[in-house]
Amino acid sequence: MLRRHQPLANVRNKMLWLFSGLLFLVFFVMSWSSYHVAQKSISRQIEQNSLPLTSDNVYSQIQRDLVQPIFVATLMAHDTFVRDWALQPAPPKEPMQRYLQEIDRRFGTIISFFVLDKSRRYYLPDTADHIIDEHSHRYEWYEQVKALPQSKPYLVTVGPDEQRPGKMDIYIEHQVYDYQQQLIGATGVGLSVDKVGELINLYEKRYQRTIYFVDQQGKVVLHGENFTGAATLQQMPGMQQIALRLLSAPSGSFHYVLSDEKVYVNARLVPEFNWYLVVEEHASPAQRAVFRTFMINLTVAAIVTLLVLGLSLLTQGRYQRKLAAQAALDPLTKAMNRQTCEEFYELLLEQCRHQHQSLSVLVFDVDYFKSVNDKYGHDMGDLVLKRLVKELRSQTRYADAVCRWGGEEFVLLLGNCNREKAWSLADRIRQRVMTLDFNAGTGTFQITLSCGVAEARLEEDLAEVVKRADAALYRAKDSGRNQVLYADE
Ligand code: GH3
Ligand code: MG
Ligand code: MG
Repeated sequence: MLRRHQPLANVRNKMLWLFSGLLFLVFFVMSWSSYHVAQKSISRQIEQNSLPLTSDNVYSQIQRDLVQPIFVATLMAHDTFVRDWALQPAPPKEPMQRYLQEIDRRFGTIISFFVLDKSRRYYLPDTADHIIDEHSHRYEWYEQVKALPQSKPYLVTVGPDEQRPGKMDIYIEHQVYDYQQQLIGATGVGLSVDKVGELINLYEKRYQRTIYFVDQQGKVVLHGENFTGAATLQQMPGMQQIALRLLSAPSGSFHYVLSDEKVYVNARLVPEFNWYLVVEEHASPAQRAVFRTFMINLTVAAIVTLLVLGLSLLTQGRYQRKLAAQAALDPLTKAMNRQTCEEFYELLLEQCRHQHQSLSVLVFDVDYFKSVNDKYGHDMGDLVLKRLVKELRSQTRYADAVCRWGGEEFVLLLGNCNREKAWSLADRIRQRVMTLDFNAGTGTFQITLSCGVAEARLEEDLAEVVKRADAALYRAKDSGRNQVLYADE
């Protein structure tokens, strides 16, 4: 019986696996494509938005701090007081000192100075003015300033603060011209760049980025306290690949790969200094998060697919079992139906023949069952049949078959059982059934059984054995019922 459903079940199972495979594939393709889209958008987001934005923010915030010294130096160089004072044949030092003190006071500069070219005298806010020693290393800058073109009249230098170790100062040295555009000296200021450093640190921490400044040769001129890069772009691993391109355009977005990790770089020129502001970001944290999401999606997909598959198999299995049971059993008594009985007989006969065992068949019929129906009603009759099957089952082995052959007639198939043993079993059942009390409301009644016993011959089919057993049954009926008789051998 189950065999009949097998090919169909196989096809259904195959379809189910195929469906599950497809489901997972769809999940996978969707997750994979969204993973790629996310990866791409992260790259785009970093390259086109977040890095330039950081660069803009840093730039606008530090610009004031960086540009202020230039502003002050430019102001001083064009101050008419300074120029008028310098054009005097022998300028007195006090007004210049007062002027420089005022500059320090107003702009918070750590140093301000003026060099009068014709006397090579170096003026400072305090009284310690002196003559510049042309051969001293310390005043090399003065010659450099003098040599600058008029279109770019100042020099920017960043150097360590001599008074405060670890701090950086920025110095602007600016040319001073008279009204006829003749060079008459140099002036300038020094300002601490603490604020710029703090800002770099803040931005680096807040956005997990690396921020620093390089000059046009690629030398790192200003950086945060956690900077770990090399002294020049050209010496930084990975960065080498893009250093040349970076330094040849006023701004740009780049990336390089360092040990399988993509690093995004944004650079922009700060024209006042001819420095590049460089902002770097490692893509990995965001990309790792996206990859983790991808893996989670895949796991969820796998679980959902397995759940769908499992549930389908389970419900299908249950449904199939139910179908199989429905097809195999008699609906009223749940005994095997005739068709199942025939299939079971084939199997059992084959098995018994193989093991040289006998196979016996019992055919039971309830005596005067019609009168049970007539007296106590059809429902009562049904109840009797159900109770009878229960009894037949309890008296036989698990491997034996109890079948409803039709109406109130039952066939029992007994493997490894000869006709004598079969007769004894049938008679025991007959006797037990006689003792069963059926409650009919008004009182109890009993039933009796008649039975025919046959042992299957070699190659005999069920219909033939039952026919022989039936003949014995009819003889039993004719001989007064409530008895078990052997069929002809
Ligand atoms: P006997 O076998 O002793 O000759 O008499 P009987 O009355 O049992 O004989 P018969 O075979 O003529 O009657 C069988 C009756 O069984 C007829 C039918 O109404 C009844 N019957 C058949 N199937 C069912 C069923 O499923 N439920 C009930 N309640 N009765 C059934
Ligand atoms: Mg009967
Ligand atoms: Mg009958």
